[in-house]
Amino acid sequence: KERTLAMIKPDGVTKIGDIFELINTANLIVTKAKMIKLTWSQAADFYMEHQSKPFFNNLVQFMSSGPVVAMELMGDEAISIWRRLLGPTDSAVARREAQESVRAQFGTDGIKNVAHGSDSVAAHSFTHFLICFSTPYP
Ligand code: ATP
Repeated sequence: KERTLAMIKPDGVTKIGDIFELINTANLIVTKAKMIKLTWSQAADFYMEHQSKPFFNNLVQFMSSGPVVAMELMGDEAISIWRRLLGPTDSAVARREAQESVRAQFGTDGIKNVAHGSDSVAAHSFTHFLICFSTPYP
């Protein structure tokens, strides 16, 4: 079984019931969950790979604007299944190309897009687990 980090962003927290239903239907199980409010600096560390992008400040501001829910999801191919369930980054594109996806159903635009999913078992996943749960990737 694979594990991945899913994070419900501030705009997704009120949709969490519907999101859990989609997670269950995809045969993933929630093995950790924690509601936290990221500081500006934690949000900046979380999205460090995007620090040179023009949207970085807006992204960090958004991610630290309210509570988020960090989750560890477990299942066969959990990383790619959760990414597919999320849909394309831009919610408008998701509505065109993946109507059943989380971002298509609950997202607003390219930044307010409901949730995050790790894209690999890589160093940044390790950091993400550390930021959210104060423990590294298991
Ligand atoms: P995530 O890493 O959150 O799962 P992703 O892998 O689909 O999303 P990335 O390219 O890694 O997309 O971008 C990280 C986050 O930065 C996006 O989820 C979105 O919130 C924000 N973002 C990405 N591109 C833009 C953009 N052009 N304008 C504004 N915000 C953006």
